[in-house]
Amino acid sequence: MNNIPASLQIDAEAGRLAGRTGSYEKLIKDLSGVYQDASAFDALVDERGTSIAYRVEEFRRSEDEGDLIFGLSVLNAGKVGSEFAITRGHRHVKTDRSEIYVGVSGRGLLLLEDPAGVVDVVELSPGSIAYVPPHWIHRSVNTGDEDLVSLFCYPADSGQDYEIIEKNGGMGSLVVDDGSGRWALVDNPRYGLDRQ
Ligand code: MN
Repeated sequence: MNNIPASLQIDAEAGRLAGRTGSYEKLIKDLSGVYQDASAFDALVDERGTSIAYRVEEFRRSEDEGDLIFGLSVLNAGKVGSEFAITRGHRHVKTDRSEIYVGVSGRGLLLLEDPAGVVDVVELSPGSIAYVPPHWIHRSVNTGDEDLVSLFCYPADSGQDYEIIEKNGGMGSLVVDDGSGRWALVDNPRYGLDRQ
């Protein structure tokens, strides 16, 4: 019998979720093509490509309509060239499925893009809640100097489409260091160029 309540515990400092049903991690070398500055990325891979870029600890009991999947996303700090550390990002396969992210520790953003290519950002800091509306592409960005830990929750039948971003040559905007350590949005020069 799987249909029983559950209680889990967040360790905000360690970025761990006690009671998780699964986890995965992405290494720096797994993020080929994600960052704008290919030579900076290649240099980072040479230096520490097998280091963890981000990891997810989740509670996934089913992928049934009406169920929820939730967990912790832990995105390491850093930059590739001037671009702050990001996750691959995705849109939901069932594109009308929404999501929330709650800041647990660290500082960052959700970078969002709607089907018309409009980009928006929502800040993530401890206690803040970011709402991802239906149909929006989303990725996390760590603009701080410590792990960005956030709690996410989405409908269990959403699915993740990672290829939509690749097909578009990335998202419409990049989140870069403005030269003083603060973040700024700039246009992605590759955006739309790879589109078939
Ligand atoms: Mn999602």
